[in-house]
Amino acid sequence: MAKYIFVTGGVTSSLGKGIFAASLAKLLQSRGYRVTIQKFDPYINVDPGTLNPYEHGECYVTEDGAETDLDLGHYERFLNVSTSQSNNVTTGRVYQYVISKEREGAYLGKTVQVIPHITDEIKRRMLLLGQSGEYDIVITEIGGTIGDIEAQPFIETVRQIRWELEEHDTLICHLTLLPFLKSAKELKTKPTQHSVKELQALGVMPNILVCRTEMELSDDIRKKLALFCNVERGSVIQALDVDTIYAVPLEMQKENLDTTVLRKLHLPLDKPSDMTKWNQFLQTLRNPTREVRIGLVGKYIELQDAYKSIHEAFIHAGVANQVKVVVEPIHSEHIDDTNVEQLLGNLDGVLVAPGFGNRGIEGKITAIKFVRENNIPFFGICLGMQCAVIEFARNVLGMKTAHSTEMDSNTQYPVIAMMEEQKRIKNKGGTMRLGAYRCDLQKGTLADKLYGKEHISERHRHRYEFNNEYFNQFEAAGMVASGRNPDNGLVEVVEIPTHPHFIGVQYHPELKSTVENPHPLFVGLVKAAVDLKKKVDSKELLAATNG
Ligand code: GLN
Repeated sequence: MAKYIFVTGGVTSSLGKGIFAASLAKLLQSRGYRVTIQKFDPYINVDPGTLNPYEHGECYVTEDGAETDLDLGHYERFLNVSTSQSNNVTTGRVYQYVISKEREGAYLGKTVQVIPHITDEIKRRMLLLGQSGEYDIVITEIGGTIGDIEAQPFIETVRQIRWELEEHDTLICHLTLLPFLKSAKELKTKPTQHSVKELQALGVMPNILVCRTEMELSDDIRKKLALFCNVERGSVIQALDVDTIYAVPLEMQKENLDTTVLRKLHLPLDKPSDMTKWNQFLQTLRNPTREVRIGLVGKYIELQDAYKSIHEAFIHAGVANQVKVVVEPIHSEHIDDTNVEQLLGNLDGVLVAPGFGNRGIEGKITAIKFVRENNIPFFGICLGMQCAVIEFARNVLGMKTAHSTEMDSNTQYPVIAMMEEQKRIKNKGGTMRLGAYRCDLQKGTLADKLYGKEHISERHRHRYEFNNEYFNQFEAAGMVASGRNPDNGLVEVVEIPTHPHFIGVQYHPELKSTVENPHPLFVGLVKAAVDLKKKVDSKELLAATNG
């Protein structure tokens, strides 16, 4: 039977429960345990697919096509193991299931209530992955903050699971914040004490206290927290602010988090932890040999979380190239012909981001025209690829009004058009072309060179697609389709072979980049950026020496 670890949060949101859960999982995995992480979110949306990125950041997509919370991205990036629909459950999904069962008459005339019907369904889902036989340990992150009304059924379910299982089969890690009061020059423990009290009032006693802090915890503070929060002295774990999320697993290991957890779960400690590769990654990340600047053109750039996986994929790709990638966010709404050179002219590469709707679209197209004409390495993802196709149609093929039917349903040149199967769909939630699809790459192309293999599989999230009716015209003018879905011929990758590095993909490669497996397309873009920078640097050096 699997062991269950629950991660709750107190005092404030944004404490990094997801990173903590992923770090703990990594440490356990490094000792040979098979670990998975799931997230339970208290909101009523059935999944985050219908949420604006400004709400909860990026929507992460799994292999099996689930639209999920971005924390699942951290789980995959840290563990290098795929998650699925079962790894993310919302209150909405639970209610939807219970209500549909009620409509079928499954409750035999009973009053359907939060307890036991909703909690039973939460329980079923919380235990599901652990019953598959695939995992030794299941870590469940409970979204929200203790005290929120909406998360109470989750906490009540955790209480019941704790009551039903053996004491050493479950564990609760409670994450809190210790604010530092400048005037008193002190770390304050009271908010933590209160949040633990709140948890206890719900019948749940934390075993491990993880304290986010900007200062080292003194022995006195640790003792005080242990005493008043009712945990063992060694179970007060300091989570000091660090320069990168990738340092967190090692920081947690310094605090003996893994051994404490294993001991409490009665799991053998004799398997040694092997974090060598992780450590190497961190060393390279912290000691880059040079820097490249890559523009990220998008419309949600005010919020880092909106492009979370892209930012992380750049970190992985930077390490693979031993360089620091400085990502310069550029708001697509602010780009026009008058300022594009000033905004993009000095960059070593440009990525045009995914997105939906009309806002900022012309800025993206203007940016692509500029990088195409100026030989700046370009990478377009999903809408970014579609914009590259539109730009090419307008400025190379002379189809001045070319567009995607998403933005202009009556366009004379619908070079990007809604996929056939999408035309019948009315509902918005979970109805896009989602999840992993196969793609075959054409030999000798940039895509083929970067991936180093012919058959790939990548994750999708879109309704529109390259309109194959225009394919011959594009190819004749120099934009090729280097990747296609083998089953239906959909164009998944486009590129311009005469450009030093110009590639657009209909899928989302950022979702599959992990610490262990940086994504080849990101690695390729960063490498192209490094090459460009070296060329520019040596030209400048030559000019300086000659001058
Ligand atoms: N809006 C575009 C589509 O639906 C692109 C989606 C995306 O970038 N994820 O096809």
